[in-house]
Amino acid sequence: MADEERAGLGGEIRFPSEPASSLELPPVIEKPMTVAEAELRGLPYMQDIVEKRNVFKKPYRISLADRAEALGEIEKLQELQKRAEEVRSLLLARTGDKPTPEQIEWARDTMRGELLALARGARAFTMHHRVPPFRVGAAMLALREVSEKDANPWVIMFSANTKVDDDKKATKEGEKWCAEQYLMDRITEPTCPGEEGIKKVIAFAVSGEARSDDVSALKGVEQITLTPCAICRDRMNYDPELTTGEEPIIPLTTEVVSQDINNLGIQKWQKVGEMHGFHGERREED
Ligand SMILES: [Zn+2]
Repeated sequence: MADEERAGLGGEIRFPSEPASSLELPPVIEKPMTVAEAELRGLPYMQDIVEKRNVFKKPYRISLADRAEALGEIEKLQELQKRAEEVRSLLLARTGDKPTPEQIEWARDTMRGELLALARGARAFTMHHRVPPFRVGAAMLALREVSEKDANPWVIMFSANTKVDDDKKATKEGEKWCAEQYLMDRITEPTCPGEEGIKKVIAFAVSGEARSDDVSALKGVEQITLTPCAICRDRMNYDPELTTGEEPIIPLTTEVVSQDINNLGIQKWQKVGEMHGFHGERREED
């Protein structure tokens, strides 16, 4: 549709025959900002922005299980879940149910390759309108409180990005929700008992095609790997449910490893607290 036609349609408003008072308009929610945008406007209230954004994006999310079904990828989901389970068992066997700080570091370094492999596999669950879709997979290594039923404190999860509308269809008009965001959702809103009680995220792994920065101060700068976008780095740094308190679930030291899907040898290792600086943004200290 040409722009003039679109403008013409928008300009002509026909009122239905009912009285105006019976019309219910959807609530207007202003789209929350990124750190870079907030700074330009002189509004540094990042925790508030992240909370508002989480609410705004809620209708545009679709669970991994629903996606696997819609995409005919149930076997792939089962295969990756089985692998994640095997890695968890291996970790428990090596560290026991109370891993020491040294064992946690060992787990992070040893399982980096496994996490990246899960992130790559999870790209099967992307829902995106483009042909081919813009696919990003992510995986997460975390620790949780153990229960009597499950004494394994290690958590391994994976997901992929979506851009769906509120009918859960991949359309250009949809809102994006990232692989990393889906993983963080499962900490704040667990979808099964194995996701409950997560107390610390040790590492995120991200796999996709490298692209240039879009909203950061480095807009247009080519990156060697796809690092978490502005929305993700904001949430990893400021989500009040994940980053506050004496022992935040996502401390600034959590590792973020990213890998170019077209050249697996190209990887970037960063810490959550370094990401804003890396993209030329100031990290708000409050
Ligand atoms: Zn993102």
